[in-house]
Amino acid sequence: MNFLRNRLVVLGLVLLATLLLYLLLPSIRQGSMEPSLEAQRMGLMATSPPPLPTINVLQVVLLHGQAFTSKTWEELGTMALLATNGYQALAMDLPDAALRFLDRMAEELGLPIKKIEVCPGRVVAIMTWEGTNPSLKSILLNSHTDVVPVFQEHWKYDAFSAFKDAEGNIYARGSQDMKCVTIQYIQAIRRLKAEGRKLMRTVHLMFVPDEEVGGHKGMETFVKHPEFQKLNIGFALDEGLANPGEAFTVFYGERNPWWITVHCPGSPGHGSRFVENTAAEKLRHVMNSFLDFREKEKHRLNTSECFTLGDVTTVNMTMVKGGVAYNVIPAEMDVSFDLRIPPTVNLQEFERQIKQWCKEAGEDVTYEFAQKHMNQNVTSTEENDPWWSTFSGACKSMNLTLEKEIFPAATDSRFIRAVGIPAIGFSPMNRTPILLHDHNEFLNEQVFLKGISVFERLISALASVPACPAEA
Ligand SMILES: [Zn+2]
Repeated sequence: MNFLRNRLVVLGLVLLATLLLYLLLPSIRQGSMEPSLEAQRMGLMATSPPPLPTINVLQVVLLHGQAFTSKTWEELGTMALLATNGYQALAMDLPDAALRFLDRMAEELGLPIKKIEVCPGRVVAIMTWEGTNPSLKSILLNSHTDVVPVFQEHWKYDAFSAFKDAEGNIYARGSQDMKCVTIQYIQAIRRLKAEGRKLMRTVHLMFVPDEEVGGHKGMETFVKHPEFQKLNIGFALDEGLANPGEAFTVFYGERNPWWITVHCPGSPGHGSRFVENTAAEKLRHVMNSFLDFREKEKHRLNTSECFTLGDVTTVNMTMVKGGVAYNVIPAEMDVSFDLRIPPTVNLQEFERQIKQWCKEAGEDVTYEFAQKHMNQNVTSTEENDPWWSTFSGACKSMNLTLEKEIFPAATDSRFIRAVGIPAIGFSPMNRTPILLHDHNEFLNEQVFLKGISVFERLISALASVPACPAEA
């Protein structure tokens, strides 16, 4: 949804900019008009024509970052439009602001940084702090550099100014999701290095570009890349969620999203009759089956003390299609559902159940998946697991209470777990309302600063996990 909205906004801006340029062309060609302020604001930096009246070729420079590239301008026809109107247009792919910031951090930390363009315009950056025994499996500290859009009119302060109020609450998009963690990783490493510490296992800080739009051109692709294999990762930390209470939430698995459309064909006919075997009757059956199950799951969540959203299957009917006129009984009606299934559910059995619901609904009712994730890897939280016992032990020594949960939505951790690497989702934010993707996202500076010390202890403990038999 955010992705779609993002693309629409960008497309809208581009069309507006193109239209603006197009309208301005005649007046500029006549020689007197300065490049418009609006065009400059939209990232179209037009340099003024030279003072010589005989030269009237205006240069237009198009600048952009990671997700929106020179290729996009080309595809939209902007370059061609400018060229046919006598402009010298130049589209440049500037390194993303986040990457430039990371370059500076790597330099300050004295760590090498590697950038891999996993897909066109999607760069994964990795800083590496080599351990004293680099042949052992490494520790991955993962974070994503992208954020979701803001609706500035709903914010108390400029969403990108990181305004700190009198209570020390820092308001900024990404303050919870997940710039806080990125900076905490960096600061924790800075402190460890300043103390002269040398860690046994290598630590990689990885910065991925597109978690918020599904991670498909970032982490999902990168985990299959030879450069990822070279990192030799044994254990990974990634994002989690805030916890309004005293405890800290840790995530050891995620639910599988299934997007399904059920097709209900039926006999067409005139709207004045009792036609048998209609699409609508079958649709009603399908809806009842899915929504009865929804009620049961909701009840299970509400009546069990130890369940969270991640432990039950959520079902939501999200689209209905069919019909052409009031008096025509349609030949087909479709209904779509968004299902999120916890890793404890037997997926084969669950699909058999869906098949049964369709069969009961009537003749020729079929279904198809738009998305069907089958990854049920969860990270061990058994006390005899060396990674978990180290993680939980370090938290215990800092008097942190942990609440283990299945992540209710999806993060890049699922791709890490899918290739067999244990991953824990952990953003050290207690006493904090969950405001990711929300207006007025904030984090208190005390919570933020404490998080740096938490990571300092965690990183040093995890990088000191003794070699397991398989590594020797
Ligand atoms: Zn996030």
